[in-house]
Amino acid sequence: MDPLLCFLSGLFLGALLWVLLDRRRHSSAPKAPFEAPAPERPGDERAVYIPGRNFDEMLERLGSGESMLNVILNSMGEGVVLLNQADRVVLMNPAAEKVLGLSEKEALGRLYLEVIRHPALSELLKASKTGDGLSHGELDLTGGEERTFSVGVSAIRSGEGNHLGQIMVLSDITSLKRLLRMRTEFVANVSHELKTPLTAILGYVETLVTGAIDDKKNRVQFLEKISDQAQRLHALITDVLELSRIESGGFVTSLEPVDLLATARQVVETLKAKWEAKGLTLTVEVPSGTWVTGHKQGLFHVLENLLDNAVKYSPSKGEVRLAAQTREDGKVEVLVRDEGPGIPKAFQARVFERFFRVDPSRSREMGGTGLGLAIVKHLVEKMGGEVSLQSEEGKGSLFTVVLSPAEE
Ligand code: ADP
Repeated sequence: MDPLLCFLSGLFLGALLWVLLDRRRHSSAPKAPFEAPAPERPGDERAVYIPGRNFDEMLERLGSGESMLNVILNSMGEGVVLLNQADRVVLMNPAAEKVLGLSEKEALGRLYLEVIRHPALSELLKASKTGDGLSHGELDLTGGEERTFSVGVSAIRSGEGNHLGQIMVLSDITSLKRLLRMRTEFVANVSHELKTPLTAILGYVETLVTGAIDDKKNRVQFLEKISDQAQRLHALITDVLELSRIESGGFVTSLEPVDLLATARQVVETLKAKWEAKGLTLTVEVPSGTWVTGHKQGLFHVLENLLDNAVKYSPSKGEVRLAAQTREDGKVEVLVRDEGPGIPKAFQARVFERFFRVDPSRSREMGGTGLGLAIVKHLVEKMGGEVSLQSEEGKGSLFTVVLSPAEE
């Protein structure tokens, strides 16, 4: 959600709660009825359990607005902190306790400056007291892992305009920020990758136009270079489009039983010219009748990318093996092994990232886009599987894809 939208919705909720909050802070009513019993489903600790079998019954049994307020505050993902006119904390919900790293008990009655020692927060609180009563900002908190919060502060004023207090709403926007950063980086990377071959093409064309066209000896060479670079552009655009189709859910729309051996044979045939040109031995050891739950075209792309890399990075006359076996737990393991340079430990987790290459110039030289393994990972995950890598520098690589079995 847009940070501003988070903020406005938080403030709207905050304003709605204000009347009820006023009652709660003068009361010592226990929270107990809404904190018990223990979660029914393991790992569902965030759920708040309330009495009643449906919403109407719940309302009836909760009765007072104050009880309802407790339910809302305790179940909110956003942190809510309420300050009185003397800048002292009068309420903090569990989400705010978590964000600020202290309990409501410790904070109650204390000046916010003692409780929230963050210059940016103090500024926001000050800004909302003056001006139109609203202030909004972002806050980076480092408590173990770094998190970003959208913070909205709303001043509460009486009909006569007297300052009565402030409500602060904190929404975690860490994943949203990460996504925005990833998108920006992706656009920058794509632009960079497109620019290089395009610049080369323009350079060769200019050379031809300014006279090299009459140079019978070299002009074919220039045209071949233009063709190579155009193919690079084509490969890159194809991969970018494929990645975006997979991510938007338009590629693997439904799962189906796929014949692993038939798909493997098709891929091997498609890559035949490449592996034969390098004098490689390509062995397929997939038991016939092995069916996996997946997507026919998706699985083809996965094997094609993995085998294409294995062929690309193998030394000439090396061996590439594509094997499959059924594990004890019934899952099917597809293994792609090569005798190439291997991937250093430090980079193994990163090779599935978009545009990550161990040796960028070598990859580009071989026509790589840096997107192949990112596509593999996305496709395998869409098929409900997992992909992993085992490798040792100088001793080849082994990529393993684990998929669920299927009946023919
Ligand atoms: P590329 O198009 O560059 O091959 P990939 O996403 O397919 O992009 O792979 C990312 C990087 O991982 C490659 O640039 C290369 O450094 C490394 N890599 C992938 N597969 C292999 C392999 N079989 N052997 C050695 N390195 C590999």
